[in-house]
Amino acid sequence: MNDILEQSHDEARELDRHDALSDFREHFWIPKKTDGSKQLYFCGNSLGLQPKAVKAAVLDELTAWQELGVEGHFRGQRPWLSYNDQLRGPMSELIGAKPHEVVVMNSLTVNLHLMMISFYQPQGKRKKILIEHQSFPSDRYAVESQIRMHNLDPNECLVEIAPRGNGHTLDETVIEDYLAEHGEQVALVLWPGVQYASGQFFDLQRIAQSAHKAGALCGFDLAHAVGNVPLNLCDSGVDFAVWCTYKYLNAGMGAVAGCFVNERHGESESLKRLHGWWGTAPESRFLMEPDFVPASGAEAWVMSNPPILAMAPIRVSLELFKQAGMTALHEKSIAMTAYLEQLIHSELNDSIEIITPAQPGRRGCQLSLRVLAGRDAGRALFEQLEKAGTIPDWREPDLIRVAPVPFYNRFEDCWLFVNQVKTLLGKT
Ligand SMILES: *Cc1c(COP(=O)(O)O)cnc(C)c1O
Repeated sequence: MNDILEQSHDEARELDRHDALSDFREHFWIPKKTDGSKQLYFCGNSLGLQPKAVKAAVLDELTAWQELGVEGHFRGQRPWLSYNDQLRGPMSELIGAKPHEVVVMNSLTVNLHLMMISFYQPQGKRKKILIEHQSFPSDRYAVESQIRMHNLDPNECLVEIAPRGNGHTLDETVIEDYLAEHGEQVALVLWPGVQYASGQFFDLQRIAQSAHKAGALCGFDLAHAVGNVPLNLCDSGVDFAVWCTYKYLNAGMGAVAGCFVNERHGESESLKRLHGWWGTAPESRFLMEPDFVPASGAEAWVMSNPPILAMAPIRVSLELFKQAGMTALHEKSIAMTAYLEQLIHSELNDSIEIITPAQPGRRGCQLSLRVLAGRDAGRALFEQLEKAGTIPDWREPDLIRVAPVPFYNRFEDCWLFVNQVKTLLGKT
């Protein structure tokens, strides 16, 4: 290694030494390469790493079941009956909502459907759903099938909004302009908090306001936003939101998802909603009476008794967020992402393009990269990285997404990544 490289490697290590959150890395299992050393894991936006305390938390519930049987619903350290009440507080803090506006249930796409059953009510001319073009496929399928459920035609009712020009960043004015012109036809605006491919963080409040001004409702898919960027759903005025917990929330593959219903809808008697016994008021849940008496707030949307083994990891994860604090995590995220960006600009400027917005307020920790030599070169680079134990992810057609997660990534990881890419592209 030459002197300049050596010096910049020292600088990366120095940044890690000054990182007040560096100890949190020890709370996570970092997967290993074949030689036993730790991977450079940049895939927390796809599957967050396992907190070390998760295993014991799951085993605790298995032990409670072993020792208490059915009584575990009422007894033990964390009675299963009220398990959601333990998650509600810390989860609502992460998204800037009130506890009764939040529940943990089902999976993301299922929650999206449940929300659209309530919040997509096409009527007369007002029957369109606005989504971004290149939205996550599951969201698009969900929207399309909801439109069909109303015997409507997706060709007419599904509107996809694209950025102006050839860019990847979509300015909110495009949504505002559409709504100003055709707002009376729009029933629902469904938008991502952070776009999964580009990493763009949208202005939730602005989008919700323009939807409301047009007389439409507004929901968000926060899969890539929760645990990544600070959120304030209460102030944003959003009607509903859904998110998964296995990405930045580190709760494990297919973990139980989150759902937010703005309190102004929580008590609504006119909303359509699919019911199950767990959505009834806790006081009356076991009276086994035929009439549905809804729980207050978001809990009324819960159908079934909670899958405790799958929820225990969420409890662990939320405790870690509480200890570290979202503000501190986000500060580190801004610094580390900017560091990675700056290294890419200085070392790889002639071979890699970053399509993620450059302003820190317009993104989370993910940078989406494009190899200028084309898709095949990008794919080859990705495969070589993987083989070397460096784990970003690949999104068709040509994106390599890299997410330095403040909980467990280091500045040094970013430095090693850039220098590895440089070597693989033959730049050194
Ligand atoms: C990750 C992700 C999903 C995944 O949906 P599941 O129902 O959890 O399988 C859906 N939508 C978006 C935007 C995502 O980022």
